Amino acid sequence: MPARWNIFADIATIVVTPRCLICGCKVMATMNRICPRCRLRIPLTNYWRVEENPVKRRFDGMLILEQGSAFLFYRAGTIWQRLIHRFKYEGRWRIAHHLGLWYGAELSESGLYADIDVIIPIPLHFIKGLRRTYNQATYIAEGIAKSMGKELDTLSVRRKRNNPSQTKHKGYDRWTNVEDIFEVVHPERLRGKHILVVDDVMTSGATLYSCLKCLSDALPDARLSFAALAVTQYISDVR
Ligand SMILES: [Zn+2]
Repeated sequence: MPARWNIFADIATIVVTPRCLICGCKVMATMNRICPRCRLRIPLTNYWRVEENPVKRRFDGMLILEQGSAFLFYRAGTIWQRLIHRFKYEGRWRIAHHLGLWYGAELSESGLYADIDVIIPIPLHFIKGLRRTYNQATYIAEGIAKSMGKELDTLSVRRKRNNPSQTKHKGYDRWTNVEDIFEVVHPERLRGKHILVVDDVMTSGATLYSCLKCLSDALPDARLSFAALAVTQYISDVR
């Protein structure tokens, strides 16, 4: 290979070498933009490997679910909380997408999610979507769908009411704030399918419940599962 080519190749490596989205160090292209050191430090739940786990048990007696899991613990004051804030409020959607790719690979490997047919992100109301310009749950779901080789559906369910943010509510108010806010607009696309609903952060579980309940009421022959990217430690400690 000519030396001149080598120089260009070296420059290209310096310019295009991807960097870890979390710590900023250089990372191999195959690592999905999260370096091995950060992968080891991330507080994973491992809930997706077991059928009975605290986040799925959260809905016992409320919904019939096939599977349910969260990927990492959301701990206040940690860099993981900062990471989620960056993709939720600061426009860093690539972080959501790459965490979704990683999460999807783990869901596939567990075997419990093998017969999922379609993946649906929790929809934002269109007014909130205009303000934020994107729905972070869609980027997580897109990454999961790509890794799992499953269909992504962002059109069949919509948020019909622009409810105030859950962060402004506590306790029981969180459940009433999200009551009846979703609607299945294309039930014909989802009948008889196994649906995986994707959310970003599960705090009380009220938003996920509202979306899953809406699907369950509209589609009695569908099977339902969920995958939250993060869960607050509180929920995991409740039961
Ligand atoms: Zn890193």
